[in-house]
This record gives sequence, C-alpha cells and structure tokens, in this order.
Amino acid sequence: MRLPHFEYFEPETLKSAVNLILKNKESKFLAGGTDLMPKFKKGVIRPEVLINIKEITGINSIKEEKNYLKIGALVTLGEIEDSPLINQVFPSIVEAAHSVATQQLRNTATLGGNLCQDTRCLYFDNSYLFGQSIWEKCFKRGGNVCHLVKKGKKCLAVYSGDVAPVLLALNAKVQVVGSSGKRLISLSEIYSGKGDNAFTLLPEELIAEIHVPKPKPSSYGTYVKFRERGSIDFPIVGIAAYLTINKDTIKDANIWLTSVGSAPVEAVEAESVLKGANISTDLIEKSANQAYQQIAPVPNHGYSAWYIKEMVKVFVKRALIKVMENARGGQS
Ligand SMILES: Cc1cc2nc3c(=O)[nH]c(=O)nc-3n(C[C@H](O)[C@H](O)[C@H](O)COP(=O)(O)OP(=O)(O)OC[C@H]3O[C@@H](n4cnc5c(N)ncnc54)[C@H](O)[C@@H]3O)c2cc1C
Ligand code: SF4
Repeated sequence: MRLPHFEYFEPETLKSAVNLILKNKESKFLAGGTDLMPKFKKGVIRPEVLINIKEITGINSIKEEKNYLKIGALVTLGEIEDSPLINQVFPSIVEAAHSVATQQLRNTATLGGNLCQDTRCLYFDNSYLFGQSIWEKCFKRGGNVCHLVKKGKKCLAVYSGDVAPVLLALNAKVQVVGSSGKRLISLSEIYSGKGDNAFTLLPEELIAEIHVPKPKPSSYGTYVKFRERGSIDFPIVGIAAYLTINKDTIKDANIWLTSVGSAPVEAVEAESVLKGANISTDLIEKSANQAYQQIAPVPNHGYSAWYIKEMVKVFVKRALIKVMENARGGQS
C-alpha cells in the first residue's frame, strides 16, 4: 500500500517539536511508527505532516533517582526488556513490554508510543476502501453510527496497550511537554475513556518521561496476558496486579486491566476485597469475581462480551496466584 503525500520534519528539541505541531494543522507525532504507520497506510488516519520525534535528545534514557525510576518516552520496549535496572526493580514492566508484538517491532516501538497508541476496532481498523466507500461514516470518522455496536450511541473502540496497566498499578506519573511548558500528571489522567478521542493531551502535547515510584518494601507484581496467538497478538484481556504483603496480610492492592474498555480500567472492587485481608484461595476467588462483575467489555476483538468477562475472572485469578508465588520467592 502506497502512502499519500505528506510533509516530514525531524526536530531535535522538545520545543521545536511542539512549535512544529502548532504551525501545522493535521499533523501527528511519529515515534517508532509501529502503531501509526500501518493506520496511515490503510488510510485509517490521514495526517498531512509527520513530526518524527526520535531525533529529540534527552528523552531516550533510563535513569534511577532517589525515589523514582525515570524512563524517557523514546526508550524502546526492547531496551526496557534488556535493562538490568528495570529487570531488577520492576520485573512486571519487563513482562508487559516483552508481551508486545514481536522482537523486531519491540526494537522500534517506544514506551511513549505504546502508552499513546490509538484505540482499536474491528471495523475502523480495516482499510480505507472498506471503511469509507461501502459503509456510512461511524462516530470515529465523524459520522453518527457505530457499525460494531448496532444502535450504539458512542464509539466503543478498545484501548489495548500492554504496558499502561502495569505502570498504572505502580502509580506512575508522566511528564507532559506542551506550549505552556512542562507538567507532571498521573498516567491515568491522559486517558479520556472515549473510543473516538482516547487521550486528554492537546494535539501539541507530548509525553517526555515516565516517572515510576520505587516499590514499597514487600511489594510484588505481575502482568498476565490472554491473547489468541502466543507469538504475536494484542491482548484480549491483560491484567496487571501489584500487591504489598506483610506476612500473610495484604496491605495494599492495585489491579488494572487493559483491552476491556476505551481506557485502562482499575478493578476497584477486586482491590478492595484484598486490602487488609489474609491471603487464601477463597480470597483470590472472591477478588476475581468482583473484577468479573465490574468489567463490561465490548465485543471489539471478535470475541463475545460474555467470553471476555469469563476470561477476566480466570486471568485475575492467575495474576493474583502469580503475585503470591513471587512473594513467596521474594521476587518483586
Ligand atoms: C503487528 C503488530 C502487533 C502489535 N502488537 C501489540 C501488542 O501486543 N501490544 C501492544 O501494546 N501494542 C501492540 N502493537 C502496537 C504498537 O506496536 C505498540 O503500541 C508500540 O509500542 C507503539 O509505539 P511506537 O513508538 O511505534 O508508536 P507510534 O506508532 O510512533 O505512535 C503511536 C501513537 O502515539 C503517539 N505518540 C508517540 N510517542 C508519543 C509521545 N512521546 N507523546 C505523545 N504521543 C506520542 C503518536 O502520535 C501516535 O498517535 C502492535 C503493532 C503491530 C503492527
Ligand atoms: S466502535 Fe468506534 S470505531 Fe468502531 S465502528 Fe463503532 S464508532 Fe466506529
């Protein structure tokens, strides 16, 4: 598939990247391009200008500070997998990064791009010809119908990033750079929950760094992913669990899910039954049931909502069992 004509810039500073996007309407930031370019080729998006941010200096390293690990937005998922520091302090981030696509893609795909990847839809992600010429425009294309959920009143495209749930469970923050300077916000704030406009960031804003607080003592985490093909696939359901455990009592619990809505979802009820309780098989079952009841997935991956809900229960259970095993083995 050939790309249509577009203009291309390679700024070397964050400031010039922001200025370029302010000057050019219909422009997009380009990092590794593994999410953006296939959509551009298919005609699903049609930017007139691409601003390649990969030449920007200062946002491509992993730094340890007193209370935080700071990961530049341009760090690739492959570099995360290879980082001795992240492997030692946050193995669950490595698990999530490793589960994305294939090694070849992970060597190019950046963390910033993974967090900001667009929502997915069986209909919308199909080619321009299929989407535009035969079907009426859907909400995400500026129309008034949804082809996936008949009589749907809004776009329900699904956010499927693998790394966001782990960073959310770890209470990560992101440093956002825009025309009015830098701001540090919670990662959860960048997700709008809207399928057709998934991010709260302004068009000229970009993520520069991800700040992950150092783990509390006796904290253990994991990421488990259910997908169709083990070799390469987006999650049907992905679950990050992060618990603080003292002897046999759970002091704190963070559970986030991906691919079950237009933004990552916190399983708040599943967390609350765990907090302050003693570890047991019944408790894990109860927590998984709470997640099952809370989550209302959309059949946007070719699977029924009923089936995805069942898998939420199974995989929350697996995630919690894995965290308990990590706790017994002393692996954070
Ligand atoms: C075959 C295939 C399989 C895949 N499987 C998976 C999978 O299993 N799990 C998964 O999570 N993803 C998967 N992906 C999607 C994609 O590879 C990853 O999300 C990747 O991490 C995107 O990073 P990138 O640097 O390539 O982003 P790009 O494609 O360059 O950008 C993605 C979006 O983020 C924006 N963006 C990029 N960087 C920033 C920034 N710093 N600040 C603000 N906005 C930014 C861009 O403007 C664009 O809209 C797959 C893709 C393909 C093609
Ligand atoms: S879910 Fe969104 S992108 Fe998919 S068909 Fe419906 S409106 Fe379009």
